[in-house]
Amino acid sequence: METKLLGTSRRDIIEAASLLKAGEVVAVPTETVYGLAANAFDEAAVRKIFSAKMRPCDNPLIVHISSLDMLKMAAISLPRTAIACADAFWPGPLTMVLPKRREIPYVTSGGLETVGIRFPSDRICQSIISECGFPLAAPSANLSGSPSPTNAKRVYEDMNGRISAIVDGGESMVGLESTVISFEGDSVRILRPGRISYDDLLAVAKRVIIDSGVTQKVDNDKPAASPGMKYRHYAPKARVILIESDLEAFRSYVQKNSTEGSYCLLFSDGEAIEGMPYLTYGADGETQAHLLFERLRQFDELGAATIFARCPSQDGVGLAVYNRILRSSGFNIVKL
Ligand code: AMP
Ligand code: MG
Repeated sequence: METKLLGTSRRDIIEAASLLKAGEVVAVPTETVYGLAANAFDEAAVRKIFSAKMRPCDNPLIVHISSLDMLKMAAISLPRTAIACADAFWPGPLTMVLPKRREIPYVTSGGLETVGIRFPSDRICQSIISECGFPLAAPSANLSGSPSPTNAKRVYEDMNGRISAIVDGGESMVGLESTVISFEGDSVRILRPGRISYDDLLAVAKRVIIDSGVTQKVDNDKPAASPGMKYRHYAPKARVILIESDLEAFRSYVQKNSTEGSYCLLFSDGEAIEGMPYLTYGADGETQAHLLFERLRQFDELGAATIFARCPSQDGVGLAVYNRILRSSGFNIVKL
């Protein structure tokens, strides 16, 4: 299959929408990461997403809408707290798990009676959904297990020949996937952290619970609150070792343990160790969120064998950065 590269002109958006209407898969920009989109109501189209990504079929897809009217096409009802969250954070990087309508097939919801729904703020994404007139199921546009793409070039590397088209809308603003929440009475449970933080949610909900799967390994034999937690994710080819320590302890650990092909992932240039190649991903959560996945892909291009990574803070959006890098290391964390 030839993968067509589209821009963001009106003509290109109409072309992307007509491919989607014909049951094809198209990669689209969003403010979080690029998504691999198909008609959320069309079982055959959604199956194509799973095969293009090689994604396990019990890992549900997020359904993207471009209006509150479209929300009614996908969800049966909204708890009171969900209405407050939609008011506060939509359009934006927040996914709400809600009871699904019958019209959303189980292929889309990974066999669940609930569906994750998001109203993205990216204008190009919004116009593609509006032009289609139906919600789009869209997971991140990478091969299952590898770091999510934050620009069209990275989507092309993973998806060339596997999907009908890629819409190039530039760099994703946030750089990490959406915050995923579910509702328990007046409480909100964070299933996956993202740009909308614990504190952001606490300003709207009575109580916010961080699911244990956010920072801990999920037992594969038990049903996970959020099926995506079970799988290895966001991993570059290199082995990632996450080091939670001060700079001095980090440096001496790396000096003792580095071998041929070792690299460092640092907050800033000032932390460099003599003779050790490195990349930086910033010192604050927002910059780290924006750069992390791109840096992991750059390490692959450099042929890195091992990456010694400085551990991000877990404050604010930092919790999301921590969650992703922890998973990309396969929970290989050294606390010094
Ligand atoms: P991705 O499509 O790669 O951004 O991953 C979407 C993630 O959202 C999944 O891996 C799940 O963990 C979570 N998710 C989506 N729908 C649901 C749902 N109905 N219930 C719980 N978690 C969900
Ligand atoms: Mg993903």
